Amino acid sequence: MCKKIYLLGICLLLPSCVYQSQSKSVIIKDTNMAKFELPPLPYAYDALEPYIDRQTMELHHNKHHAAYVNNLNDALAKYPQYQTWTLEQLVTQYDQLPKDIATTVRNNAGGHINHSMFWLMMKKNGGKPHEALLADIVKTFGSFEAFQEQFNKAAKTVFGSGWAWLCLDPQGKLVISTSANQDSPLKQGLTPILGLDVWEHAYYLKYQNKRVEYIDAWWQVINWDYVQALYEKNR
Ligand code: MN
Repeated sequence: MCKKIYLLGICLLLPSCVYQSQSKSVIIKDTNMAKFELPPLPYAYDALEPYIDRQTMELHHNKHHAAYVNNLNDALAKYPQYQTWTLEQLVTQYDQLPKDIATTVRNNAGGHINHSMFWLMMKKNGGKPHEALLADIVKTFGSFEAFQEQFNKAAKTVFGSGWAWLCLDPQGKLVISTSANQDSPLKQGLTPILGLDVWEHAYYLKYQNKRVEYIDAWWQVINWDYVQALYEKNR
């Protein structure tokens, strides 16, 4: 049996999907199944060229993300009683798991949830932020350019491997945050609506050590429809 996760973006296309009971949810899945699965990339591997190259996307999705899914399934296979936990539970409550799998689950459930969202947060010709979100960004950060500048600074200054995020805090206010390794903002009580992977595996083949050029290119492929959907669902 395979455990499928449905992300909001996919769920919008599948009316039969059932949302999780928590209102602040970004992930929907069937909890009756034992194993997590690698979700298909929602576009071709070369769809984000020239900003993100095909080879990087292939390795990133097919090797890196797949490894997080496999490692997570292997860890949970030792303790089947936790196989009914949702990804959100796993990334926020891993400290309640048996000690010998807690860190593995933290890293790999985090890797799975972060990348599952990351693919959906990008698309070719991503367009512009929708009106409601743009107004909130301007209200919160002063201007869209000021928001970009603050986000870029956060992404640039993540030391080593990690992520930069635009999140909603528990009061529904927009905040920029970062997380180390594969930690999820959910663990900090924040709901991510936009995220940028700044692990070297996300850009090194094309951009080598020039993380700033990768960050600049990524702005061209943001899927603002998906970001807007997460914003509306979670604010
Ligand atoms: Mn990655």
